[in-house]
Amino acid sequence: MSPTRRRRLTPPRTLPVPIDYIFEKLEPLYGPIEWRPRYNALDELIFTVLTQHTSDLNAERAFDELRRRIPTWGEVIEADNAAVTSAIQSGGLANQKSVRIQNILLEIVRRHGALELEFLKGFEVDAAREWLTELPGVGPKTAAVVMAFALGMPAIPVDTHIHRVSGRLGLIREGTSADDAHVVLEKIVEPQDRFNLHVLLITHGRKICKARRSLCGDCPVADRCPSRGKFG
Ligand code: SF4
Repeated sequence: MSPTRRRRLTPPRTLPVPIDYIFEKLEPLYGPIEWRPRYNALDELIFTVLTQHTSDLNAERAFDELRRRIPTWGEVIEADNAAVTSAIQSGGLANQKSVRIQNILLEIVRRHGALELEFLKGFEVDAAREWLTELPGVGPKTAAVVMAFALGMPAIPVDTHIHRVSGRLGLIREGTSADDAHVVLEKIVEPQDRFNLHVLLITHGRKICKARRSLCGDCPVADRCPSRGKFG
């Protein structure tokens, strides 16, 4: 690993906006936060593949249609690829996603012998992430979504909002990729706080710390933020 990459995998020496301060200011605004699984872990994984490069709404339509036309994951493996592609059209990139989904399911059967992922609950976070990211087309974000949303494990999925807000708040060093940010944020956030921080930062990114124009005048952490006014 290059020294530059190693540096980006470590958090800044001091955080300009401490994690406690983020909770103190953002939780009253966006809370209370409650963890509730959306799907079982395998369904969550396939759903997350469908969300890639499209909205959750389109992904939900594609997921529901796939389940309606081909009700079990075992049948999806056996199905003609064209049938899977046709079922998930509304999710976009259907040709690529149908191949990815069938390959993932096949690989799970090959490695685990069953079409389920609940067994990962017994793994350490790093081991579960490693198991998931060794599946074809599954990166750190998709793995973290499955762990955080379906398995109740202390992972922080880093999407575009969380990557942007973490960078602006100085939680990650400049130039840290979204993939590397998963590792860095887990180093500075206690396990029991990770899911809630994920929700707070993603909500903050959508509502106030927006990509094109941050609304710093409305931001409750502006007094400590090193990026205040830079993106407004
Ligand atoms: S002060 Fe501005 S840049 Fe900083 S977190 Fe708030 S909205 Fe984002």
